[in-house]
Amino acid sequence: MTASPSAPTALRYEPLRGLALWGEEEKAAALDVLESRSLFRYYGPALQRRVERFEERFAALHQAPHAVGVSSGTAALTCALIGLGIPEGGEVIVPSATFIGCVNAVVAARGVPVFADIDDSLTLDPTAWEHLVTERTFAVMPVHLNNAAADMDPILAVARKHGVRVLEDAAQACGVGYRGRPVGSIGDAGAFSFQLEKNITAGEGGAVVTTDPDVHDRVVRYQDQGGQFTTSRSGERGAAGEAFLGANLRMTEIAGALLSVQLERLTPMLRRLRDVARTVRADLADLGLEWRRLPDEEGSGGDLTVLLADRMAARRFVTQLTAAGIPAATLYSGRLVQQNPSVRAGRTAWGTSWDATARLRASEAVLGRSVTVGLGATMTDDDVAHLTASLRTAAESVRKGAGGE
Ligand SMILES: *Cc1c(COP(=O)(O)O)cnc(C)c1O
Repeated sequence: MTASPSAPTALRYEPLRGLALWGEEEKAAALDVLESRSLFRYYGPALQRRVERFEERFAALHQAPHAVGVSSGTAALTCALIGLGIPEGGEVIVPSATFIGCVNAVVAARGVPVFADIDDSLTLDPTAWEHLVTERTFAVMPVHLNNAAADMDPILAVARKHGVRVLEDAAQACGVGYRGRPVGSIGDAGAFSFQLEKNITAGEGGAVVTTDPDVHDRVVRYQDQGGQFTTSRSGERGAAGEAFLGANLRMTEIAGALLSVQLERLTPMLRRLRDVARTVRADLADLGLEWRRLPDEEGSGGDLTVLLADRMAARRFVTQLTAAGIPAATLYSGRLVQQNPSVRAGRTAWGTSWDATARLRASEAVLGRSVTVGLGATMTDDDVAHLTASLRTAAESVRKGAGGE
């Protein structure tokens, strides 16, 4: 998310989460599955039920009765929308600062994305999306960006008022909390990603969490060809009226085994990163920097995002930090998701699916002047001290206008 592959100086630390803690336990868990030759979750020579066990632990961590492991975070979002019962053409309100996977998931679920403003939290402006609600609106998709929660309470209030479903995109916030609740189980469903850069990883993978047994049932069916291995009775996928067709978005047993190990590392890792972020912010308090607003700092998993005066200052800030070996970047290179040409024009694989999207200049401006510092799970106290000093130097230099390009 924040790696800077073209950094002129070697980075001081890897800006990685779960992958930075990868070790012997992951190797042993994967090897167990290989030796069992049971690589498939629903049957095999010596079924290990690794995905099932991961789902149980993942659901428990989220204080939810149900979790379903799937093949990716994008698949999780698609499955969740289908689980929630999105009708064809149903509109899904998506914040403008997010990954294109959100849009792709809506399209795969036969929905239409509608782009909403972000605020100085870089997440969905909690009330400014209300005017976008129409009779076609099916869901709103708050995105918990870079290990900090969106402001869920006001989002839920607006959603309930209009009968709009709430699907949390927690791909970048596995283990993060909001007012004492784990993100992903606050709305009607939550989606997680276990891609390489996420908090816990198996290279690829995803999960859907929900408290609704009907949503759970539909997600299980959809990710399994409509219920090939989960509900098939005499070739029928459930009773007449309840069966429907699906896709193959299943999780492999190796992923399940790796993720069970990674999950054990999650809580202490996030506590450490939250402490790092707090320490750095406190040490720099005298600079009067404008930090990204965190709707719940207490529950965050470590975010250090500075809002500079403008886009140019943000670029200079990034240049300074990367020269000091600190991973830093403007998320999504400062581009809103609908600035992607295909998204803007509504070009899907089956034609043009929506009209050109409106520009959201305030959202462009706030994202463009933000700089997110990458934190790493293996950062030492030395690294933290170097990070603090580098932020101080960069901030002072940018303020003087002497950053240079
Ligand atoms: C990573 C990510 C996804 C998609 O996850 P994949 O596992 O890569 O499909 C969706 N939304 C956000 C905000 C993400 O960061």
